[in-house]
Amino acid sequence: IGFVEQRDPEVGAAMRRELERQKRNIELIASENIVSPAVMAAMGSVLTNKYAEGYPAHRYYGGCQCVDVVEEIARQRACQLFGAEHANVQPHSGAQANLAVYFALLNVGDTVLGMDLSNGGHLTHGSPVNMSGKNYHFISYGVDENGYLDYEELARKARENHPKMIVAGASAYARVIDFERIAGIAKEVGALFMVDMAHIAGLVAAGLHPNPVPWADVVTTTTHKTLRGPRGGLILCRQEYAKAIDKAIFPGTQGGPLEHVIAAKAVCFGEALKPEFKAYQQAIVDNARALAQALQARGVKLVSGGTDNHLMTVDLRGTGVTGKELEARLDEVNITANKNTVPNDPEKPFVTSGVRIGTPAVTTRGFGREEMQVIADCIADCTFRFEETKEATRAAVARLAERFPLYE
Ligand code: PLP
Repeated sequence: IGFVEQRDPEVGAAMRRELERQKRNIELIASENIVSPAVMAAMGSVLTNKYAEGYPAHRYYGGCQCVDVVEEIARQRACQLFGAEHANVQPHSGAQANLAVYFALLNVGDTVLGMDLSNGGHLTHGSPVNMSGKNYHFISYGVDENGYLDYEELARKARENHPKMIVAGASAYARVIDFERIAGIAKEVGALFMVDMAHIAGLVAAGLHPNPVPWADVVTTTTHKTLRGPRGGLILCRQEYAKAIDKAIFPGTQGGPLEHVIAAKAVCFGEALKPEFKAYQQAIVDNARALAQALQARGVKLVSGGTDNHLMTVDLRGTGVTGKELEARLDEVNITANKNTVPNDPEKPFVTSGVRIGTPAVTTRGFGREEMQVIADCIADCTFRFEETKEATRAAVARLAERFPLYE
């Protein structure tokens, strides 16, 4: 940052303020994390200078010998990490990965089943405002009255509508997803099965959530959430789909791959293959469970009444506080989280009745069970007695941030 400040004070100053914000704030956005210095360094490297359209050993540009090595390492490590037959490490993001899979395996207008956005699904799983919802005939399934994925409804809709593909995976779902069961439904109705494991990829890599790879035809993920890599996407598939998937990324939907980001993905996969990564993922899950219990002990309601993974959604219905309001209050005391719809939310998506919170970033920072209790108290105080407690809460957050310094 110092270097940017010298050359471009305007951008450098904003970057400096962001660094200070990350140091000062407690990061509870479930999809964010804090990358290692090696991942960060790979991203900010000379590999950003290189054009490499195509794939290793089949490029449309000269001078790709070194990036070929990097991309091949990334592909091999991704396959090893998740037990996949083929990996494409070029998607610029999770959304790009999903749209490329649809482009590879569907025709415009095909029927697809995906999880409803307001029940925890993702925009790219058929939301009407997303290209997925505009190009394909998505039918959505959701959760039952207890907040658990409604497999019966999914099976019924699959039998009624004969989709070409079933998409599983979520952005705000706190429970284990039974991929084997959904694969059985897909097989019964002759549908392709795609899993978007973006949120839980780190847990899957560590063996703490069932792996979708043995059950799905194609698996997509982001690399920057629980997996703790650079911002980006990844597609894993059976060998029979490898050609179609590769063609759908390049030349289908992308141009030159971001080889600096691919290098960072390779470093991230290398880190995830180490034993320490499993301990880290276990700590994420333990922290989430501790936080959920502590919140509930303070009378904070959670969708589905708890969590099996790295996240939970606070259900604010009946408190008189909206998701938007709680997000703003948390921001005032230097806790970062995001408003999120709850199932059957009476509020608009920009307001919502929920706040999603996750433990990947604070676990990277070193927080444990004791700190989860402090965070739960902060969130409960912001929900139920904000004005009288906000100064004390801000001080408690500052003490935590000081005890667990970031990028020192
Ligand atoms: N899929 C899921 C389940 C997600 O939660 C997200 C991001 O939040 C994405 C895909 C999209 O990833 P990106 O923001 O990298 O496009």
